[in-house]
Amino acid sequence: PVRVRFAPSPTGFLHLGGLRTALYNYIFAKKYQGSFILRLEDTDQTRLVPGAAENIEDMLEWAGIPPDESPRRGGPAGPYQQSQRLELYAQATEALLKTGAAYPCFCSPQRLELLKKEALRNHQTPRYDNRCRNLNQEQVAQKLAKVPKPSIRFRLEKAAPAFQDLVYGWNRHDVASVEGDPVIMKSDGFPTYHLACVVDDHHMGISHVLRGSEWLVSTAKHLLLYRALGWQPPHFAHLPLLLNRDGSKLSKRQGDIFLEHFAADGFLPDSLVDIITNCGSGFAGNQMGRTLPELITQFDLTQITCHSALLDLEKLPEFNRLHLQRLVSSESQRRLLVGKLQALVEEAFGSQLQNRDVLNPVYMERILLLRQVGVRGLENRGRGYWVLQFLLLSRVLFLVHSDFLLPQGHICRLQDLVSPAYSYLWTRPSVGRAQLDAISEKVDVIAKRVLGLLERSGMTLTQDVLSGELKKLSEGLEGTKHSNVMKLLRVALSGQQQGPPIAEMMVSLGPKEVRERIQKVLS
Ligand code: GLU
Repeated sequence: PVRVRFAPSPTGFLHLGGLRTALYNYIFAKKYQGSFILRLEDTDQTRLVPGAAENIEDMLEWAGIPPDESPRRGGPAGPYQQSQRLELYAQATEALLKTGAAYPCFCSPQRLELLKKEALRNHQTPRYDNRCRNLNQEQVAQKLAKVPKPSIRFRLEKAAPAFQDLVYGWNRHDVASVEGDPVIMKSDGFPTYHLACVVDDHHMGISHVLRGSEWLVSTAKHLLLYRALGWQPPHFAHLPLLLNRDGSKLSKRQGDIFLEHFAADGFLPDSLVDIITNCGSGFAGNQMGRTLPELITQFDLTQITCHSALLDLEKLPEFNRLHLQRLVSSESQRRLLVGKLQALVEEAFGSQLQNRDVLNPVYMERILLLRQVGVRGLENRGRGYWVLQFLLLSRVLFLVHSDFLLPQGHICRLQDLVSPAYSYLWTRPSVGRAQLDAISEKVDVIAKRVLGLLERSGMTLTQDVLSGELKKLSEGLEGTKHSNVMKLLRVALSGQQQGPPIAEMMVSLGPKEVRERIQKVLS
């Protein structure tokens, strides 16, 4: 069976690089009805960050890729934290010591530090000189008397095994001639990464290791360990680097890359999943707007290339817009969004809400639908997309009792709806009479005409109102241009100089609220 793992160290919160690795593992597992395992590699106790372990698991769940087995969920191969598996590493170390594949190292930290400094002074890469490799039994016994808990090193064999990486192809890395023998077990009883990783992948029955290409070179070491322990290694597939659009390293310096930051900013998990897989390879096609089930269907491991994936985070809002649109078009999802929008509005405006009707789900749903039929990004869409648009549009038309209406604004995040540009949807603007008089001398006449229009239309805003009647508002008004009338209405209704077309604004607010706001002008 396919069993894959995501094995982060809880030395920091989950970021986009980690999400990418986790995603490929999850997608691969689901494609082959396998298991996706979360294993926390917490053997370097000095680098643990409080809360990181919880954050990693929380964020995997948030992203919609919950592990099948994990520290929180448990499972048949647990525990899933390396710090709780020390016994297994001790056993493996014992076995390696027995066959002579590993040996105790008595070198003091001071000596190792000196070696390092010397190498750096000679512009060489520091490496252990394997001094303790050939101590005889007597020497070992003597040293053990002085240093009862030595660290244990793994004897790197010269003949490194070649292996076929499922992405990078044939690989052979002669580690022994480049590196000194690595410590596999520290004197405090904690293993180092290499040993722990091999022992766990073996005992957890991992079939495929999908991880970042920075680990490609380490694989040689891991294969030597598998051989020395007499175990069958898993298959390896190393994932190309994930970089910023300009090819620089994806790092915190380029802005916040932690998932919780995106979550707090109102980005949908689906849009992060989409943008990360969209910039990488391994999928048939790379259209925007894909969801996890689609990605799983389209995934093909053999299609992953060695090219770095360049992530353009500036496109994230557009990805988010597509996914928000998809959610809005589903009735059940839309209801959930309404709940979230209510919370956002309460939080942003709370006590300022003069009219609590704006929290009404019907009103909110109408706003969501209006906001989502944006005209941007409609190019190059398949037939399904247009069918969806048609259905969505019909729904809007039904709700606003209008035969034809295509609003122009669009939002990328739900949060955008509580931004200043849209605050008029929730609170009445405070507009001074002088401000309106400055736009036109005919404020009273225009206001009365709007009220008359509402009256005449029986308080429903129809196509006539929108396309025909609005034009009539400026008929026969000496010295006041139509554009000024519209400007006046915009300021009176929203307190803003710019925004969506007046017709759309009126439909959004609904006739009752429009009347209230216009009446205020006259008082
Ligand atoms: N703990 C390693 C990391 O933090 C895991 C590497 C691997 O997947 O083997 O990336």
